[in-house]
Amino acid sequence: MLEELKEEVCAANLVLQQAGLVGLVVLTWGNASGIDRDQGLVAIKPSGVPYEELTAAQIVLVDLEGNIVEGELQPSSDTPSHLVLYQELQDIGGVAHTHSTYAAAWAQACRSIPCYGTTHADYFRGPVPVTRPLEPEMVQGSYERETGWAIVRAVANKSRQEFPGILVAQHGPFTWGESASEAVRNSIILEQVARMAAA
Ligand SMILES: [Zn+2]
Repeated sequence: MLEELKEEVCAANLVLQQAGLVGLVVLTWGNASGIDRDQGLVAIKPSGVPYEELTAAQIVLVDLEGNIVEGELQPSSDTPSHLVLYQELQDIGGVAHTHSTYAAAWAQACRSIPCYGTTHADYFRGPVPVTRPLEPEMVQGSYERETGWAIVRAVANKSRQEFPGILVAQHGPFTWGESASEAVRNSIILEQVARMAAA
């Protein structure tokens, strides 16, 4: 079911690893997903599978409520965040999340990334936004869903094209795009922007 989408999401996850944003040093942190809007199904990386072993057949299909529709494994623990984004940001087709070093460093410091030059300006129309820190009761509740809502609140009035990603305070970056592969590409760009701004 949705074999093409699963292949694309698998390949996008592997690009995250090849780009050095996840895997190896940082274990299995990070994930990418894509949605089929017609069927309302999301394809996402399974939880805990090392990138070097990941195959398209392992990609899990869930509905927008998080019910597993197809797949032997549990979906990524970050799935609730992805689902809130797909529900609330109707114009996105893919989501990526990493703990890439520089972007996560800005996120942990709860600092938006200022626009210092053209590389940044080519992709983000202004500072890379950062969410408000989650309240303690949100952290203790459904942290992943609350993370999704914090993102939605922060980007509600912003163009998805002009702001293809965000920093979640005290956590790390989330990016999006028309597809899983575009979301991953934006994760790579955001990490580079974060690295250049830190220099
Ligand atoms: Zn994370």
